[in-house]
Amino acid sequence: MTRALPPIRQTPFIAGVFQTTGGPREPIFDPATNDPIGQVAPATPAQAIEAIAAARREFDHGDWPRMPVYERGQILRAIADGILARAEDFALLEAVNGGKPISGARREVAGAARVFNYYAGAMDKFFGDTIPISDNLLNFTLREPLGVVAQITPWNFPLLAAAWKLAPALAAGCTCLLKPSPLTPMSTLLLAEVIAACGVPAGVVNILPGGGEIGQLLAEHDTIDGISFTGSTAVGAAVMRAAAGTVKSVALELGGKNACIVFADADIAKAAKSAVGAAFGNAGQSCSARSRLLVQRSAVEAFTEALVRELAGLKPGSPLDAATTLGPLISQAHWSRVDHNVRRAEIEGARLLTGGHRPDDLPGGNFYLPTVFADVAPDMALYREEVFGPVCSITPFDTEADAVGMANASAYGLNGSVWSRDIGQALRVAKAVRTGMIAVNGLPSASSTSLFAPFGGTKRSGLGRELGMSALAFYTEIKTVTVDLS
Ligand code: NAD
Repeated sequence: MTRALPPIRQTPFIAGVFQTTGGPREPIFDPATNDPIGQVAPATPAQAIEAIAAARREFDHGDWPRMPVYERGQILRAIADGILARAEDFALLEAVNGGKPISGARREVAGAARVFNYYAGAMDKFFGDTIPISDNLLNFTLREPLGVVAQITPWNFPLLAAAWKLAPALAAGCTCLLKPSPLTPMSTLLLAEVIAACGVPAGVVNILPGGGEIGQLLAEHDTIDGISFTGSTAVGAAVMRAAAGTVKSVALELGGKNACIVFADADIAKAAKSAVGAAFGNAGQSCSARSRLLVQRSAVEAFTEALVRELAGLKPGSPLDAATTLGPLISQAHWSRVDHNVRRAEIEGARLLTGGHRPDDLPGGNFYLPTVFADVAPDMALYREEVFGPVCSITPFDTEADAVGMANASAYGLNGSVWSRDIGQALRVAKAVRTGMIAVNGLPSASSTSLFAPFGGTKRSGLGRELGMSALAFYTEIKTVTVDLS
């Protein structure tokens, strides 16, 4: 199944202009076929430095940070409308470059527009405090834009991740340098076209396709004030180290190994149905994937049966087929990594219940069947390490304390869910689990991807929160003003 992709510019976008040159062009692939679909020129280091200078100029002397917040908001609304006007182009790019089933890709595009609309109206509701100190001192705080910010995104939600970062930063009055993943730069380049057409002054948003070396340059550079990174924990730590030299503000959204805790008194059918979306949405390539299913021992059999029944409803196939619910993995290299994790789990003694290989009817592309292991012990690699593919494990527990202990036996702390009809028990567990987000008795995928609520993790899942008003805390600095009234 093929559908023509929209023609898009495939060079760095710097100071309001798509460059005519860049580094040697790199092929971009469709993970459903591994056919090339584009040739993107990455930014050279010299171009990245030129972009940083443009963003600095605009921040220090340009209109954007000084514009009344309502006017900036109007431009963000125009960007939201611009995304919706080209919604089908964006959805096609996410489906063909990102391997996302088209129905989900369309939802993500609508979500990206909503993020711009949300922050369009946010900045006149996010302001400082007046602090009583003494009779003759008036003390108040201002929320000022953080400055020039670098933003680095992963390949699993290319457009959404760009929207989550750009919209609050722009609302706050920052100027931005965004580096998409080298695997999925296409929708971010189209977003640059939309932004350019909406009255954002040149230099306020710069898009720098490229790999780790451009990310590293941004993290180290001494005229950038902050960096917001989404990606793996290992690279996030490297970004933090690189940013330390200049004491930049750092926000990190990293990996996860999220637990779904199911007590025997839960609505087992509902929990199993939800677990399928939570573990296998985006083919499991999600930091929020609930890949550890912790089930109270007396309910393991019923839950497992219900889960396997629900799995039959997942349909692997071409992302452009409206019936598809499970797309391919992002690359051949990633397919091999996922398969390696599966083979290792077998060697460790986990019991493969279903999946564990490529679907027989999809010999091309990077497809992997939804895979479930039983008898997974907490000391196995499968229990501890993020697979980032359609692979989940079932581990029995006995008591509430065991469930909490086993959920917390992870270096990560991003997301999770708890299922019990005993609301006291459910809330005790929700409080005791060390994660940035947790869902109770519901929510088929990430527990808190409402854009109104903070999104982020504890422990090695990251630092800071995106979305909601919390994102604005990162993109602003507090200035304390004290006035002597005497
Ligand atoms: P990755 O860490 O390999 O790459 C992320 C980004 O960092 C890419 O743009 C990459 O080019 C860039 N990069 C690579 N080396 C760099 C360096 N030295 N300095 C600066 N930037 C560098 O991650 P990925 O494979 O693209 O994405 C998958 C990972 O992202 C998973 O671990 C997943 O859990 C995580 N993730 C987390 C969230 C979240 O919100 N917590 C969301 C999505 C993905």
